[in-house]
Amino acid sequence: MMGRQDADQRRFFYDFCLDDHVPGDHLLRRIDAVLDLDEVRAQLKAHYSLIGRPSVDPELMIRMLIVGYCFGIRSERRLCEEVHLNLAYRWFCRLGLEDPVPDHSTFSLNRHGRFRASDAFRLVFESVVCRCMEAGLVGGEGFAVDASVLEADASRYHGVAPDEIDWSDPALNSRAAREYLAALDPAPDPARKTPKVISPSDPASAWTAKANKRVQFGYGLNYLIDNDHAIIVDVEATPARTYDEVLATRTMLNRTARRFGLKPKRLAGDTAYGTGRSLAWLIEQKIEPHIPVWDRSTRDDGTFSRSDFTYDAPNDRYICPAGKTLKTTGTLHSDNTYRYVALKRDCDRCPLKATCCPKAPARRIPRDPNEDARDYARSLSDSEPYALSRRQRKKVEMLFAHLKRHLGFERLRLRGLSGAQDEFLIAATVQNLRRLAKLAAIPPPAPQTA
Ligand code: SF4
Repeated sequence: MMGRQDADQRRFFYDFCLDDHVPGDHLLRRIDAVLDLDEVRAQLKAHYSLIGRPSVDPELMIRMLIVGYCFGIRSERRLCEEVHLNLAYRWFCRLGLEDPVPDHSTFSLNRHGRFRASDAFRLVFESVVCRCMEAGLVGGEGFAVDASVLEADASRYHGVAPDEIDWSDPALNSRAAREYLAALDPAPDPARKTPKVISPSDPASAWTAKANKRVQFGYGLNYLIDNDHAIIVDVEATPARTYDEVLATRTMLNRTARRFGLKPKRLAGDTAYGTGRSLAWLIEQKIEPHIPVWDRSTRDDGTFSRSDFTYDAPNDRYICPAGKTLKTTGTLHSDNTYRYVALKRDCDRCPLKATCCPKAPARRIPRDPNEDARDYARSLSDSEPYALSRRQRKKVEMLFAHLKRHLGFERLRLRGLSGAQDEFLIAATVQNLRRLAKLAAIPPPAPQTA
């Protein structure tokens, strides 16, 4: 017999408990069991006035954003709709069946107003890292660092040369532009290249073609993870430039030591982090660099590479395969190297010239001022701990892949470096929460019976 649904949707009273309708193993239940926002709430108090209309509850904002980043809901308007309609989202946000969900415009206003000023997302991120530490998921011995490019909310067709932009134009008076202009360094670092193209709508982003992608404006998402369980212990937003990303490693390591008392014994990274300056800093901090050395001294045209020359440290000179010396004037050149040069008269008479410097009058060997640090890093590369770090480093890449593929985070929605920072902090918080919920083995609270 064909059934007929005869439910009455006009019923006035319902015997309904929201908690009964969220499955016991739902991801949000597991996250809720490990999330504690009481401390964050107390710290945010200073940013709210004691009088006036009550704001959107900051805890509700944070919970809604966690839902959004957890389930790849990138639009604020859609997030408000989804929280309104989805029972599990309502339950996680501590909303009753009839409680109103903030309007998307109010939600945006609050998110981009005092929330940005309050550093709320860093507070939440750090409280989650502390929970991970309490759960024994952070070993603190081996860390890995890496960066990934996220496309900025800026059209790649509208890039212009920096000196062509008239910043006094009221049409360009945006928050992202004001932040960019305020952060401009009056005495820029000479090692930093001036950008050729910037975006007028998001000038802090970098014009990049990294990761074999099409050319775009982007920000670098920098993760510092603990290798044991791939817990993200720090996150930093930078323009998508290798120079800034390498510099962010110091910021993250210093902050991790300050905030959590964590100082790794080893740091794994890819070749981009293997510059002499970066390696020397790590060794100075007593952190073993498990990082391949950035080295372009090996020649593949059959002529002698730098490794065929012997460095004579006490006399600060190189000895060539013919036994002649190469000396330096001690001048540091613009590529941050000293040049060791052979005597022309030695090379002119040398039978090995054709396999040493066939096109130059005399052989020159560049040497990084931090070559000792580079040599030390090279000496570690055959060890077993280095091989282990190398394998564990892949965990950062997996986090990036998960973020982009499964959490739908391909392009930023907020502009400016502070916008990128906020988005990256929430993304890292969500990834840590998912891992904590999975690994901490905290049983989900059983649904209450009516
Ligand atoms: S060409 Fe000059 S630098 Fe090269 S092996 Fe001969 S003497 Fe030494």
